[in-house]
Amino acid sequence: MPISDFANAFVCDLVAYEPGKPIEETARELGLDPASIIKVASNENPLGPSPLAKKAMAAAIEHAHIYPDGGGFKLRSAIAGKLGFDISNIVLGNGSNEIIELLCHTFLNRNAELIAAKHAFVVYKLMATLFGAKYIEVDDPDFIHDLDAMADAITENTRLVFIANPNNPTGTHVTQEAIDRLIDRLPPHVIAVFDEAYFEFLETPPDVLKHVSAGKNVVVLRTCSKIHGLAALRIGYGIAPKHITDLLQKARQPFNTNAMAQVAALAALDDTDHIEKTKAVNREGLAFYEAAFAERGLEYVPSVANFILVKVGEGDRVFRDMLKQGVIIRAMSGYKLPDWVRISIGTPRENQRALEVLDAVL
Ligand SMILES: *Cc1c(COP(=O)(O)O)cnc(C)c1O
Repeated sequence: MPISDFANAFVCDLVAYEPGKPIEETARELGLDPASIIKVASNENPLGPSPLAKKAMAAAIEHAHIYPDGGGFKLRSAIAGKLGFDISNIVLGNGSNEIIELLCHTFLNRNAELIAAKHAFVVYKLMATLFGAKYIEVDDPDFIHDLDAMADAITENTRLVFIANPNNPTGTHVTQEAIDRLIDRLPPHVIAVFDEAYFEFLETPPDVLKHVSAGKNVVVLRTCSKIHGLAALRIGYGIAPKHITDLLQKARQPFNTNAMAQVAALAALDDTDHIEKTKAVNREGLAFYEAAFAERGLEYVPSVANFILVKVGEGDRVFRDMLKQGVIIRAMSGYKLPDWVRISIGTPRENQRALEVLDAVL
């Protein structure tokens, strides 16, 4: 018998996460110059890393032989101070994705259920499956999470409810009223996880942290991968009541976040100049695409994040044809949206080029 026959069936059955196609790999496969390729596939920051983070990393190189501060004291203190919490309310992750995994480690088993929306970020489903738990998918009319229906779906086996706000890949968000209603209905055996990877892009952000302050079973996830432009470093953080963070701290590896990422994140949090520039470029890019799609009669989902979902017919074909011309976008068949593609907002030049190539392949 091959060794795979002895592996956990729920792992064998998984379809591995398919990330945005890397530029170098695309260049190799198509014989293109990497410099001629644009990647608007993974919602990365088109302006690059925070300049303050780059400076901090350069200085930290000298100490690369020393293990990082496993407790992440400076970074957690800074985050706590900024948000009005105690350091004990903050947990760091190797990307906020790792904190999703820590939550599953801590609260899922084969009898447990995880609830998410039909078009939610796909990692929730991957994780639920990986831990042998049951994944419950709730309809999201008009691509907006229906938090009342998600609360209705809670059973005695439910442990985690994931709300991506704004959601990826839809770019939609939920209101404060809907959030407050969900929290009011949360039974004591369930944790509501608000994945706020795109929070900083919101013009009128909701306040979920007040529920953390009130000691509710609420976890808020944030990341340095998007607005701060530090996706390669893999660092994110969670904010939760101490009774939850105490458990998550036990579930993580001793040095789960590296020293370079910690100093970069610390510097980036205060880089308001970079944050404001990023938001401005994003606002402009979203308006550009929405006007262009409307002009062409292409259906799109109005977005509050740094990407946009647009209906193009055969998404896989459009993805492949655009790839041949050196523009990497994201096909959405893995999200049950075979007619749609997701395009990350780039610089004005990148947006212009992506639109030209989209026009050419349609
Ligand atoms: C990009 C993204 C994240 C962030 O992942 P990291 O591991 O922090 O890079 C988390 N949730 C959603 C919905 C995302 O789109």
